[in-house]
Amino acid sequence: MHDKPVALVTGANQGIGLQIAKDLVTHGFTVLVGSRHLDRGEAAAKEVGPDARALQLDVTDQASIAAAAARIRNELGRLDVLVNNAAISNTGMKPGMSVETYSESTRASVVSLDEVRAVFETNVYGVVAVYQAMLPLLREAPAARIVNVSSGAGSLTRNSDPAHSHRAIFGPVYPASKTALNAMTVAMAIELEGTGIKVNAACPGFTKTNLNNYAGTQTVEEGAREPVRLALLGPDGPSGTFSNSAGPLPW
Ligand code: NAP
Repeated sequence: MHDKPVALVTGANQGIGLQIAKDLVTHGFTVLVGSRHLDRGEAAAKEVGPDARALQLDVTDQASIAAAAARIRNELGRLDVLVNNAAISNTGMKPGMSVETYSESTRASVVSLDEVRAVFETNVYGVVAVYQAMLPLLREAPAARIVNVSSGAGSLTRNSDPAHSHRAIFGPVYPASKTALNAMTVAMAIELEGTGIKVNAACPGFTKTNLNNYAGTQTVEEGAREPVRLALLGPDGPSGTFSNSAGPLPW
């Protein structure tokens, strides 16, 4: 068995996931840099350093997920931390289309169900599929942690408040996928009560990445902070929570 604790970060070839990988290496982990394109994962792992290894992992492809789990078992024999970070914001935003136009075209009354399905496939079902495949390894670890990278945009409590300033962007595609991810987080935390495995959801905050065409206001270092804190929780840490780096968020 590998002597260092092992972390898997999905979608770690760029953005916040790549920064989470770097931070976990700094904290003594061997980090598996999940990437749907192996060459991009290899380039990212090289950037992270010798304690990072690329792992081909497309969260929408069951064969890829099963192969990744088998590789972790055969090559490392352990998995201590799973960060479900991979996500997409849309598939239907054409080059040059404004966020407002995309928002209008994805209102609940007119949205393409193919668009809803595609985003849920990655952001929700992909997380559940990776959870199922990695759980046997996580159960064998002394104190496993699971972090689901969510978003405050999915908060039903916030978006139900007429005074909430970002309410207009709550729609059935990306924001609702994060609401569903929050539900999955609670379901996982309830399932794992009493096991010592903690499952929490983190919002990185509006971060400058490819996901939002680099319109975010935070750095990836800032965005990685809360997911990394939750990945490193000690035995007294919580499970089944939703937070950002400023504190708890309403579901
Ligand atoms: P990003 O730079 O676009 O990174 C997303 C990563 O997910 C990429 O590595 C991407 O791979 C990967 N990915 C997408 N589909 C995948 C699949 N089917 N299988 C495996 N990997 C896949 O975005 P980011 O901002 O860092 O996002 C990281 C997380 O933070 C996401 O969960 C996002 O929802 C969340 N978040 C971000 C913000 C923000 O402001 N940026 C705010 C709130 C929450 P490719 O490189 O191959 O596309």
